[in-house]
Amino acid sequence: MKRPLILRGMFYSLLLCVTPLQAQGGVKVFISVDMEGITDVVDWDETRSSGSDYQYYRTLMTKEANAAIEGALEAGATEIVVRDSHGSGRNLLPEELNPKAKLLRDWSGGPFSMMEGIDKTFDAVIFVGYHAKAGTKDATLDHTMSSVSIRDLKVNGVSLPESGWNGLIAGCFDVPVVFLAGDKAACEQARAIFGNVEAVAVKEGIGEACLSLHPQKARELIKAGVKKAMGRLSEFKPLKYEPPYEIEIQFRSEHEAYRASWYPGAKRVGDWGVSYTSNDFLDLMRFFMLAR
Ligand SMILES: [Zn+2]
Repeated sequence: MKRPLILRGMFYSLLLCVTPLQAQGGVKVFISVDMEGITDVVDWDETRSSGSDYQYYRTLMTKEANAAIEGALEAGATEIVVRDSHGSGRNLLPEELNPKAKLLRDWSGGPFSMMEGIDKTFDAVIFVGYHAKAGTKDATLDHTMSSVSIRDLKVNGVSLPESGWNGLIAGCFDVPVVFLAGDKAACEQARAIFGNVEAVAVKEGIGEACLSLHPQKARELIKAGVKKAMGRLSEFKPLKYEPPYEIEIQFRSEHEAYRASWYPGAKRVGDWGVSYTSNDFLDLMRFFMLAR
């Protein structure tokens, strides 16, 4: 069921001894999990399978995904899809993940990327392990989709972190973003874009260093934050901008801007940038996938 019919849900929940959300006939939750915003992660080496401490941090990543799953389940979620959204798309440990969730791994090659699997049947989107956009002060491993090629991503003039771009993809299917966990800068950027989103800062960047909560404390806050967000589901609106949609990518190299400018309909914006406009957001997703 799409939007919570909260009053009807509350009535049936009293009769059936289930939560208001369950009483509405099922609540489907999509959880996209990145790694740079996981508690204590501070260096690229810790996020790459070749890194000596990667195995430890992928365990923390899996436990933070589980904290979000548990919060959603306690709030009445009946179906959960977890999308592994980092690097290879093969970081979360399947056996360790809560068995009530399904796991979507690796990259299809299509434009949905970190939101692969989202569709109109979902009721809420949750982000775990998210980070700030490229160029953010006191942010941990800040980047926007690529750590090497993109300086900035804008849609309709708004500079976006990955949470914003992914939120717009969810918005195409009328699904709201309700919760984000990551570093403090990622939380601030999410609040600026989504307004009333529940956000849990598990760490705070200090230049290239970072100060983290204890992982166990972070998980407690994530579980409680997700539960709270799911309890407020009717308050959230899907993120949607007014068409026509304009995407602008500022690259880190002039050569990449030149290459992207050959995409049909693309326009060069200064030395480093390329823009593309359409009334269909899927066209922007295609551009973003193929022009870089
Ligand atoms: Zn990542």
